[in-house]
Amino acid sequence: MKFKRVMVANRGEIAIRIFRACNELGIRTVAIYSEQDKYSLFRTKADESYQIGKNKGPIEAYLSIDEIIKIALKKGVDAIHPGYGFLSENPEFARKCDEAGIVFIGPTGYMMDQLGDKIQSKIVAKKAGVPTIPGVERPIQSEEEAKEFAASCGYPVMLKAAAGGGGRGMRIVHSEEELIPSYHSAKSEAKKAFGIDDIFIEKYLEKPKHIEVQILGDNHGNIVHLYERDCSIQRRHQKVVEFTPAISISDEKRKAICEDAIKIAKQVNYRSAGTAEFLVDVNGNHYFIEMNPRIQVEHTVTEMVTGVDIVQAQLFIAQDYELGSKEIGIISQEDVKPRGYSIQCRITTEDPANNFAPDTGKIDIYRTSSGFGVRLDGGNGFTGATVSPYYDSLLVKVISHGRTFEDAIRKATRSVKETTISGIKTNASFILNVLNHDTFIKGTCDTNFIAENPELLD
Ligand code: ADP
Repeated sequence: MKFKRVMVANRGEIAIRIFRACNELGIRTVAIYSEQDKYSLFRTKADESYQIGKNKGPIEAYLSIDEIIKIALKKGVDAIHPGYGFLSENPEFARKCDEAGIVFIGPTGYMMDQLGDKIQSKIVAKKAGVPTIPGVERPIQSEEEAKEFAASCGYPVMLKAAAGGGGRGMRIVHSEEELIPSYHSAKSEAKKAFGIDDIFIEKYLEKPKHIEVQILGDNHGNIVHLYERDCSIQRRHQKVVEFTPAISISDEKRKAICEDAIKIAKQVNYRSAGTAEFLVDVNGNHYFIEMNPRIQVEHTVTEMVTGVDIVQAQLFIAQDYELGSKEIGIISQEDVKPRGYSIQCRITTEDPANNFAPDTGKIDIYRTSSGFGVRLDGGNGFTGATVSPYYDSLLVKVISHGRTFEDAIRKATRSVKETTISGIKTNASFILNVLNHDTFIKGTCDTNFIAENPELLD
């Protein structure tokens, strides 16, 4: 089926990113927006936009499955792209789109059932012969069970929400005394965030690196990887700066991790874009942690080095094209050859001087950078825009591309410095400190880098 109209069931920068991809392919774009997003920039970037969730809260509006599908049907939409967050990992939404005869741009509901849950995805990885972090792959039922599991894994352990995301429902536990309070707090945090409070346990790795692999799969059984990203620079388990290639791992390790990502994708006959996430421990062993069955915030760096437009690849795949075919610009494994280095910096409205509390209010000046080697994927920022407290604090993604890692750092630094945003606080000074830190320049940061270097906040 050739798409004429695509709806994006999302907002902000990712909605704009998807509209652009559709635009270039001559596909008409349809936005939905909440009451609180009435004046947001993203909706004006679509060819048509419709308000949803009139009597609902700002988040709930974007989760109104039946209403979204109803509007899509009424407006003759062929397919829905869910972006990231909101309904992107909701198998019920994927199924309901299918039932309504609308193509869901992503994996099937069944694939999401297999991979969306962290426990399930570890089971899939094990079946595929891919190493996972030692732990117990079922939800803990009682305090006693929690103690037994932890004792069998050995402290420190990590408690994790099966439905987890965004670093929520996760606790590091160093001793038995901490275990029960952490178990209950992780459980209640998970319940609040995801509506499901299943918690499991695994060994806590000290100072790992987070390396993930971009995957594309089509409806014809072809699976291709677009190499790896290093996402170790995290604050409270949330990514801040991402880059590719991961320069601190060997070529053999890169190959092994990419091959393992393919094995997992093959195990479920994966379709569309997805990311297999791994942790690499201090001894260089890698372990699969989870699969994100959707487009990710940091997909951009992979696009910069491979030249593959991942969102357009999703659109092609959803229209039944085959990976490797001429119509979609080939994209076969042999054809994917990364070139150069790319870094993405997430500029947010978080104030480093105030424990990264998100700032809100009117933007007085919004002047972004441009020039050689720089790409900006923006959301709702412009001079005069109002940043509301209702949604995530991402303002603009500054993405650089250079011939060497140093070149990519210089271009990112120049671009962040050139960006002027006033009237609202941002984390720009913090990002500049990260980019110019010796460990970052060496490319050897592990996931504790930010926590261990408080001077980054100065
Ligand atoms: P989420 O889905 O909430 O983002 P992930 O499972 O992707 O959670 O993990 C996010 C981050 O948490 C990882 O990149 C890593 O920094 C940390 N983490 C997760 N599991 C472990 C573990 N077993 N040991 C050490 N760190 C971990």
